Amino acid sequence: MTTRVGGPSLPQKRELLTAIPGPKSVELMARRKAAVSSGVGGTLPVFAVAAGGGVIVDVDGNSFIDLGAGIAVTNIGNASPHVVKAVQDQVAAFTHTCFMVTPYESYVQVCEELNRLTPGDHEKRSALFNSGAEAVENAVKIARSYTGRQKVVVFDHAYHGRTNLTMALTAKNMPYKHNFGPFAPEVYRVPMSYPFHDGGLSGAEAAKRAIAKIDKEVGADEVAAILIEPIQGEGGFIVPADGFLPALVEYAHKHGIVFIADEIQTGFCRTGAWFACEHEGIVPDLMTTAKGIAGGLPLSAVTGRAEIMDSVHGGGLGGTYGGNPVACVAALAAIRTMEEQDAVSAYKHIESVMWTRLEAMQAKHGVFGDIRGRGGMIAVEFVKPGTDEPDADRCGRVAKYCHERGVLVLTAGTYGNVIRFLPPMTIGDDLLQEGLDMIDEAIAATA
Ligand SMILES: *Cc1c(COP(=O)(O)O)cnc(C)c1O
Repeated sequence: MTTRVGGPSLPQKRELLTAIPGPKSVELMARRKAAVSSGVGGTLPVFAVAAGGGVIVDVDGNSFIDLGAGIAVTNIGNASPHVVKAVQDQVAAFTHTCFMVTPYESYVQVCEELNRLTPGDHEKRSALFNSGAEAVENAVKIARSYTGRQKVVVFDHAYHGRTNLTMALTAKNMPYKHNFGPFAPEVYRVPMSYPFHDGGLSGAEAAKRAIAKIDKEVGADEVAAILIEPIQGEGGFIVPADGFLPALVEYAHKHGIVFIADEIQTGFCRTGAWFACEHEGIVPDLMTTAKGIAGGLPLSAVTGRAEIMDSVHGGGLGGTYGGNPVACVAALAAIRTMEEQDAVSAYKHIESVMWTRLEAMQAKHGVFGDIRGRGGMIAVEFVKPGTDEPDADRCGRVAKYCHERGVLVLTAGTYGNVIRFLPPMTIGDDLLQEGLDMIDEAIAATA
């Protein structure tokens, strides 16, 4: 098999040498089918050998423009140099001791960095885990322990993971929950602020609607936590109307409820700020992070107010691998890269490029009901022209058209009619423009 070096040195171009999938990918797809559970999802039928900058190269030598960053993970680019070096050094020193058994400095350093970078200048603590879902579960455990209450309020269109508790917290049945119940109890869903489908409801009005439901159906003084993505990810990059989040924070604090921001997809500069809460000036009590935290290595965290984080009994939090040393040094290297390369500005730039192009496409084709998002987290919602009726079919065909021509895009949304763009910040302007050209072409070709 081809050996290639990834990272930023990879030629930055879209290039197809074979049909998609090429012969080697076809062969691997057959082996995958025979060996891997068909329950595991798939987007592109090609197998990667290298990635970096703004491209992913497959086993047949095809080079794809990457507008997905492994679902908002490789925000600083794949095989990013500081991360590669830190990981190489760490694996050669030691790979694991279990932080609960024999601690190491990098775990503490990651917690220090998270406490420093997350919103609010109050005293904070962090705890590290492996996956986003695990962080969300732990945030709920901590909030319950602190408040002595059990109920958790979540929102329509929410996505918080695929473990039993986080399936209960996630809104969408197919594919995340279908046939997988029974789900964890004491989870209550209330309406989100979804400007495009809300008929112009303001943030304050949408908050009032959600709060009325909490008051009447849940009972404010029985709620341990209100859990929300400040911009919903899998739900379709839904940006709540201004004022929605601050009203919820105010309500939570009035009633002794822990406000948890799930920044697993929005965090680490992705939205043109270190954390999406900053756009609304809110300070969550607890925050969950994962995805973009460690340049592609599995790591997640809960960060929050010291008195909440320290309310749990000793030994109540942990896990064998949580805060693995290789992942921790990768996180430190990723954070250093974001600071050195001003990832916040890089994503603001990407936002302005994408916004201009997508608005021009809308003027030309009229198929987007909504263009929304912040920074490098922008989505378009496909509707039947002139209506607000979701057009999942068109959306799917546009994505497929792009995939077959070497541009990797991801879909999302409760109605399956959203294309979400999550390019790595290392994508060059030319490549980003070329990727957007392909969207434009795909919309025309699928009319
Ligand atoms: C991806 C995601 C999760 C789950 O993270 P995993 O690492 O896949 O368990 C939770 N919340 C949000 C907002 C996410 O985007």
